[in-house]
Amino acid sequence: MEYTDVSLKPYNTFGIDVRARRLVVYDDIEELRRVIAAREGLDATPVLHIGSGSNLLFLGDYEGLVLYCNIRNLDVVREDGDSMILNVGAGWIMDDFIAECVRNRWYGLENLSHIPGQVGASAVQNIGAYGVEAADNIVSVHCVDLNDGSARTFLKTECNYGYRHSIFKEDGVRGRYAVVSVDYRLSRKFVPRLEYGGVLKALEENHISVSADVPPGWRPLTAQNLRETIIGIRRQKLPDPKILGNAGSFFMNPVIPKAQFDVLRTEFPDMPSYVVDEERVKVPAGWMIEQCGWKGRSLGRAAVHDRQALVLVNKGGATGKDIVALCEAIRASVLSRFGITISPEVNFI
Ligand SMILES: Cc1cc2nc3c(=O)[nH]c(=O)nc-3n(C[C@H](O)[C@H](O)[C@H](O)COP(=O)(O)OP(=O)(O)OC[C@H]3O[C@@H](n4cnc5c(N)ncnc54)[C@H](O)[C@@H]3O)c2cc1C
Repeated sequence: MEYTDVSLKPYNTFGIDVRARRLVVYDDIEELRRVIAAREGLDATPVLHIGSGSNLLFLGDYEGLVLYCNIRNLDVVREDGDSMILNVGAGWIMDDFIAECVRNRWYGLENLSHIPGQVGASAVQNIGAYGVEAADNIVSVHCVDLNDGSARTFLKTECNYGYRHSIFKEDGVRGRYAVVSVDYRLSRKFVPRLEYGGVLKALEENHISVSADVPPGWRPLTAQNLRETIIGIRRQKLPDPKILGNAGSFFMNPVIPKAQFDVLRTEFPDMPSYVVDEERVKVPAGWMIEQCGWKGRSLGRAAVHDRQALVLVNKGGATGKDIVALCEAIRASVLSRFGITISPEVNFI
């Protein structure tokens, strides 16, 4: 399906109203290859591959070709004891894929429930939540080279996965490949990950027992009720992009040397942190933004969410530049108060 001079407002969760010169929604690899071949000789035309646009910030109209993947196969490619490898089309909505896995008793992705976006982007972004990252389960990522239409598979070891990072974000590779499917390894054994972000507390509030002895009136823990609990926590904490435009966490949590943290701790005894390794700690950017007084504050049509300081929102009619102005004001405050530079997680286009 092809559209020209099309609004991208429905294609980004910030709800920024910009236009693309051309948008192609492709249903299979052959169609993608035809689009690439037809581009030959037009190398000056920029190409942008999007997913659900839940991590994009458009700064202006896109004078080029926008690609959107609609490939939705789901195949078991290998089974090995309790473990299996699924090949899943990049066009699946990640949360629909997780729901399907839980329904089929294929376990491992429950903690990533309700993160917006497509399966293709999950491998680019290395999405993560509640102690689990996509990379924990990814085996390989199947791509098409947008320069010449050739196929290329990246094994997980070649993907350079890190915190919200992959090779697909690195210079020289960024924007070069369309992810067309991802191989995910799942397990028939349910091994819940409960140690992170208030999951245990929420399970208790929902009367879901994590022990084998289930008290009267309580339910035993299952992947389905863990998924529902996580969806419940997320709904409480995060604004729904359909109601208030946003792209989730706008900033990454900075990783700083432990020595720097120890000095900061003397001035800010409440400063939270997570150990990365012996020499580095991660500091929650949301906490610093809140300490700088930004939570709930607006700058024009852009604002900091009143329940989660890490989330910037479009109050209605904001442009990409409005959001960037707020982003820069926040970064300057955090740098001046804590001496720490925070960087956006969101992709500026
Ligand atoms: C309310 C909310 C909550 C969120 N919570 C979380 C969270 O808990 N954890 C987390 O990690 N993220 C979170 N996010 C961020 C976002 O959901 C993820 O980054 C997600 O992976 C983006 O998927 P997408 O399909 O929308 O990709 P897009 O935002 O459209 O694109 C993201 C990047 O991937 C590239 N890309 C997308 N699809 C393809 C493809 N098929 N081939 C090649 N490149 C591609 C794009 O070029 C871009 O660089 C949240 C966002 C929102 C709005």
